Amino acid sequence: MTLKEYRDNLLNKKFSAVEFISEIFQDIEENKQINAFLTLNKENALKKAKEIDEKIGRGEEISILEGAPYSVKDNILVKGCRTTAGSKILSDYFATYNATVIEKLNAKGAIMLGKTNLDEFAMGSSTENSAFGPTKNPLNLNFVPGGSSGGSAAAVAKGWGIFSLGSDTGGSIRQPASFCGVFGLKPTYGRVSRWGLIAMASSLDQIGPLGKTTDDIALILEIISGKDELDATTVKKDFCWEGQFNKKDFIRNIKIGLPKEYFQEGLDLRIKHKIWEIVTKLENLGAKVVDISLPLTSFALAIYYIIMPAEVSSNLARYDGVKYGYYYQNQTSDIIDYYAKTRDKGFGPEVKRRLLIGTFVLSAGYAEKFYLKAQKVRKALVGDFKEAFSKVDLILTPTSPTLAFEIGERTQDPLSMYLADIYTVSANLVGIPALSIPIGKIEKLPVGLQLMASWWEEEKMLKLSKIIESLN
Ligand code: GLN
Repeated sequence: MTLKEYRDNLLNKKFSAVEFISEIFQDIEENKQINAFLTLNKENALKKAKEIDEKIGRGEEISILEGAPYSVKDNILVKGCRTTAGSKILSDYFATYNATVIEKLNAKGAIMLGKTNLDEFAMGSSTENSAFGPTKNPLNLNFVPGGSSGGSAAAVAKGWGIFSLGSDTGGSIRQPASFCGVFGLKPTYGRVSRWGLIAMASSLDQIGPLGKTTDDIALILEIISGKDELDATTVKKDFCWEGQFNKKDFIRNIKIGLPKEYFQEGLDLRIKHKIWEIVTKLENLGAKVVDISLPLTSFALAIYYIIMPAEVSSNLARYDGVKYGYYYQNQTSDIIDYYAKTRDKGFGPEVKRRLLIGTFVLSAGYAEKFYLKAQKVRKALVGDFKEAFSKVDLILTPTSPTLAFEIGERTQDPLSMYLADIYTVSANLVGIPALSIPIGKIEKLPVGLQLMASWWEEEKMLKLSKIIESLN
């Protein structure tokens, strides 16, 4: 159900908010094995739903988001709610304030159902790195939902809330969206406030929506975006979604680039074929499609896996067992030993791997060779994209080189797990917006198509998304 359909149904008394939301909680309960949620906000949600029902009963107007149920990835703070980031080290942490995005949704009357599962501190591509067990792909329980926002993607796919908020540092909204057959948007860096998002890699992190339609995620973006005094990286640029536009004019004036580096070895040919089907249809509608090149693509994953862990090692230094969260309880008189034991027991293996890599690439004697060099290549990658966007309006690629994989298939081989991000990390490294659109299924598993746009050009990207959506 879309936001608009939900609201119409409420107003036409097809069901009440209490009925609808109670049913969701029941369904979550009956499908516990999916493990999409780490914490449910049942009492509060039903209380709010009752208030909305009463308001409708009195004949008052309700706005588009009022009473709309949604879920939130458990690395985004909701005041009074347990917020774990999928880690044992924060297993008993209760947020003392709201993230800006939550404040904004609250102000519109949306109803938060619960906090969704994720890879520990958003590090992973399958949600198998959660300290609270993996989430399963609702379309086939033997498969992963993608990650790290796997709980959010699974929840939206199951209809447990109309939309969800996730975070994307290297693909964590788009890749699970593609594995679960929903829409997922990573906004331009600086579009959405990160205040209240538990930091992973601060120069890459963005919060964004997952939903069932282009209109829904565009509307959520409109609400959560904007300048925030509490996040100095946000920029004063309004995003206003105009869902009604002349599609014929739009498509005739659009130039789409297909970067050859994204269609080479390693891409599942069935996915390539599905993407081509869409491209052909767009061409038939009048879009100009051209081949382009992003020559530095082969370095993107390498620089991501230097810069990201470097920032991770700095951001996660705060979990020392003193300020908050889990701590090592046995007697030890040595403070260094206390930190070490807390971190050894509190962090999982993937987080530790990144802390070690990050500390290494920043250490004296190696920073120049790795971290600084990666920063230079990152800058050059920005140049690649600027060049491309001087020729085309939008870039079209697959979201992921493969379909959802089986649970356990890649856990022993981190490099194969990292390869899941090959098409998504560049957008984070250069800061542009990107979107995954569901375009059908192969052997019952969803396929995602990715669009990337130039900085602040979400509108163009979402308009093409709406056209692609209508082709399905
Ligand atoms: N899968 C990527 C990683 O493991 C991306 C994570 C993210 O976007 N949070 O780092």
